[in-house]
Amino acid sequence: GENLLAIINDILDFSKIEAGKLEIQTVTFDLRTLIENVGVMFARRAEHAGVDFTCAFDTQAHATYAGDPDRIQQILNNLIGNALKFTREGAVTVRAYAAATTDGTCRMRFEVRDTGFGIAAEHQARIFDSFVQADGSTARKFGGTGLGLAICKQLTQLMGGEIGLESSPGRGSMFWFMVPLRNEFAGPAHQSRVRRGNFEGKRVLIAEANPESRELLELQLTAWRASHVAATSRDGALRRLQDAANAGAGFDCMIIDHGFAGDGLTFVAGLRLTKLFPLPKFLMLAGISALQETGQWMDAGIDAYVDKPIRQRELQDALAKVLQTDEPLEPFAAASPRPPEDETRFKAHLLVAEDNTVNQELMRGMLDGLGCRLQIAGNGREAVDAVINLEFDSRHDPYQLILMDCQMPELDGFAATRRIREFEQREARERLPIIAITANALNGDREHCLAAGMDDYLTKPFTRAQLIEVLQRWLPLEATVKPAAMGAAPVASTAAVVSAIDLTALRKIQALQRPGAPDILTKVIALYAEAVPRVLQDMRNAMMTADGELLQRAAHSLKSSSASLGATACAESCHELEALGRSGHIAAAASKIDVLEFELDAALAALRQQLRLADADAA
Ligand code: ADP
Repeated sequence: GENLLAIINDILDFSKIEAGKLEIQTVTFDLRTLIENVGVMFARRAEHAGVDFTCAFDTQAHATYAGDPDRIQQILNNLIGNALKFTREGAVTVRAYAAATTDGTCRMRFEVRDTGFGIAAEHQARIFDSFVQADGSTARKFGGTGLGLAICKQLTQLMGGEIGLESSPGRGSMFWFMVPLRNEFAGPAHQSRVRRGNFEGKRVLIAEANPESRELLELQLTAWRASHVAATSRDGALRRLQDAANAGAGFDCMIIDHGFAGDGLTFVAGLRLTKLFPLPKFLMLAGISALQETGQWMDAGIDAYVDKPIRQRELQDALAKVLQTDEPLEPFAAASPRPPEDETRFKAHLLVAEDNTVNQELMRGMLDGLGCRLQIAGNGREAVDAVINLEFDSRHDPYQLILMDCQMPELDGFAATRRIREFEQREARERLPIIAITANALNGDREHCLAAGMDDYLTKPFTRAQLIEVLQRWLPLEATVKPAAMGAAPVASTAAVVSAIDLTALRKIQALQRPGAPDILTKVIALYAEAVPRVLQDMRNAMMTADGELLQRAAHSLKSSSASLGATACAESCHELEALGRSGHIAAAASKIDVLEFELDAALAALRQQLRLADADAA
């Protein structure tokens, strides 16, 4: 089914282009964010395939351009998807850089390299034609339509660019495309602000065997004026440390890959034990699967970590944290003018149906900030009542849209939607847009939502940008207003210090803070802390009464708020408990609940610690 869907999408896109119906838009966007997001999107797949994956935007260049980010992303998705599909081992590397710049316009070159099968010279010339695959057996082995590259070619041409490849069989391929983009905010004032990241005088040892990732770090550190050397092996790293110690100029920080010298963690633990050299701070780079073990890292002496593929802003935050640079750093992303979505305002009255109090608060935070008024319904039945009662009550202003959680007690989102649709039909009312909020990114969920009469959907956890994107499809946009100054800068020293929680989640919550409003993080954490004992009790009761459904429900509610707060381990345990409850394997859940309790203790302690840090920062 999935393959068929991919084929249909390709064909639709292709025929749209052929029919001249595809329009290229020009909007202002942040290219660095685009590239980094693409990187995150493919990280898990690459890891699964056992392929090294780096994805980077040339660090020197500024990142705000006008062009068509969706189409650029579509091409990248296609090329990266192919690269991963046709590579068994080695690396896939994505790069973007400004190849040439002339008054206000630059030619942005994107490269996707792989170390895969490669493409024979005789096939290369035709590879961008529609329905062409390199050899006849490809379709059988790998599926696909042979349309992907034809679409990429058409899209680049529509954008006024070009596309090509270099490849040799057995060694790999490099697909590239080049599109003209208009420089935005390229004035000198902007340039000087962009360069603010500064680690001058700091000495960094890079312990990373992957050449792409190493090069990226080197570029980045150079741009931030830190002095750095790199080591690719255990011996190399030891020698560097020894040399530095002999010269009386030890390193301030060692950036070490999780897989360095077989096992970066063991290497660091060894350094700590031997006490041969003055020890630097340790900043660990880790792929997604390794992130599940971060709990043990603190014991091993890791001071901070950054997940791969590396995002510039996070690396900078983490370095600032471990190097304790006093100068307030202006991170690149924050220095570039805020993307236009931050000025988005909707003047609308919304109904939010969501049973989880933590998520209710988050929704309130996001929607308030977007200029919406909202009413919250705690379950599906309340949502239906709210719609019906309001329709009968002329004093209230009607809702313009409903955000509907799918899994809720009493009446779930699907059933509630059906009732609302029935009501609308019966009373000949206008159809309210209903956006599903689903926790399951499972395929088929979308169809399920649409079948129930919902119009669109968002998958939890979603970002503010994703919320805006959906709202924009359904609500009239209020004249854009200057954004209120965001709350106190990125507070809570949000570098990813090792702990039981993933701080990027907290950072997202803090980004919702508006000046003058009660502290949103405090509120959300308090609600969570309050819910935890109650839910644990529910789980224990479920065990006593062998009530699988109760276990499932309790675990589900805690899963989603844990994920929102970055308590990843807790969320995962809840996920497992939810599945056990669903399948009725109650007995197996007992020990899992014990584990969860430990994890919750750790997460709550870490969350409280964050609040203290945030307070201290504010003071
Ligand atoms: P699809 O992947 O749907 O078959 P594409 O147009 O994207 O269609 O690709 C056409 C063909 O080009 C593929 O079937 C494959 O034979 C070849 N190809 C594309 N990218 C690569 C790559 N990175 N390495 C090797 N072969 C590739």
